[in-house]
Amino acid sequence: MIEYDFSKIPIVDLVDDILVYGVKNRASDIHFDPVENGLKIRMRIDGELRNHALVPSLYHKNLATRIKLISGMNITENRLPQDGAIKGKIKDVDVDMRVSCLPTNEGEKIVIRILDYSMSLKGIDSLGFSKVNFEKLKKMISVPNGIVLVTGATGTGKSTTTYSILQALNKENTNIISVEDPIEMNIEGVNQVQVNSEIGMTFASALRAILRQDPNIILIGEIRDSETAQIAIRASITGHLVLSTIHTNNSLTTIERLIDMGVERYLLSTSLTGIISQRLARKICKKCCIKKETTEYEKKVFKKTLGKDISEIYTANPAGCQECNGGYKGRIAIQEVLLINDEVREAINSDIDREELKRLVYKTDVITMLQDGLEKVLEGLTTFDEIYKIIDIDDEMDDEDGIYLAKAIAYHQFENEPTAKASSTPPPPQENKDTKQNEEKNNNTQLEEAKIENEEIIPSEEKEEII
Ligand SMILES: [Zn+2]
Repeated sequence: MIEYDFSKIPIVDLVDDILVYGVKNRASDIHFDPVENGLKIRMRIDGELRNHALVPSLYHKNLATRIKLISGMNITENRLPQDGAIKGKIKDVDVDMRVSCLPTNEGEKIVIRILDYSMSLKGIDSLGFSKVNFEKLKKMISVPNGIVLVTGATGTGKSTTTYSILQALNKENTNIISVEDPIEMNIEGVNQVQVNSEIGMTFASALRAILRQDPNIILIGEIRDSETAQIAIRASITGHLVLSTIHTNNSLTTIERLIDMGVERYLLSTSLTGIISQRLARKICKKCCIKKETTEYEKKVFKKTLGKDISEIYTANPAGCQECNGGYKGRIAIQEVLLINDEVREAINSDIDREELKRLVYKTDVITMLQDGLEKVLEGLTTFDEIYKIIDIDDEMDDEDGIYLAKAIAYHQFENEPTAKASSTPPPPQENKDTKQNEEKNNNTQLEEAKIENEEIIPSEEKEEII
């Protein structure tokens, strides 16, 4: 909590201070909640809401009015929800914010979303994809038609991934048109269309117009209804690469959702190129993390999911250090990438049941989100606790034990042979002399391997970038 001297600080400065604090501390949202004794300010940092300050009732109204004023809202209206934006420089800090105001029984609640594009501009190789998944991603965006979907709940970094892919495809000789709601980031070279349903400019109607604009690549902000789903699929089989997001949990549920939305199976099987599902886990702070013995449960999960015997892992230090918040700093994406192959294509087209489709999807070389997450625990990027929080481990493990185990062994061999890197101890993420030597050793072996396979490898530092 920050203590402000409300009797001395002018409201204008107070608001500026709060906004700049949010930007500098990598907050994604700033909440202003009306409570009995004033206005409670909280900031969401790395996905967690934290108390920032309490503004006494006396200053509540002025503060809310100031925010509404600078975000271009009607300050005399306090009974209806309003949207606004703050863009420009505050105290020499560039700010780009979306502001929402909602009347509640205690007064107006304001939430400011801080838009940060720095991650989208770093490129697709900074999104935290494992080597295998990154290769699949490159394959799926190299075809000139078909549909690629990025899936996940709200706040899982879907936009960052989508914009990064679009940046990678943004070349002089391609016509890229997007339809979005809202346009989250202006991209040079892309024709971006804002949905405005009040005047009948829906995703579907905008898409119909876009198809007459000779596009190569179409970005659809989000597939929310069956009409959009159907036009999107149709566009992707008529020589366009379509990129979109959908609010589902994994590859399997995405296929099911599209069929539920009335997309014809034969169209879906022809058009679907790939599905990227993702969630965000908090990144471990490398300055203060601690090593610990794995519990029986953790041992079981690693063995069953990755086929590895793990006796020690790194975990976050709850006390934290000066550089982090409770042992965590930033976030990393945990992904599942499905590149549709002929077998899955045929399965989508034929009317097979869910279990059969599931078996086929996960029988391919798909690394499940749980496997990707646990590998990232072993790499010292995140913690078992974080993976436990974002993935229903027991559910995943009880389900189809055989398939997971078989796949785990295949994955284990693919990732680690013949380096014999898999040991009972994970590579230490802290930088000390010995570790560096070990890392160099590992890198060298990996490089040699890469040479043999004639494949590119992603340097481990790049994989560690936050989303
Ligand atoms: Zn720390």
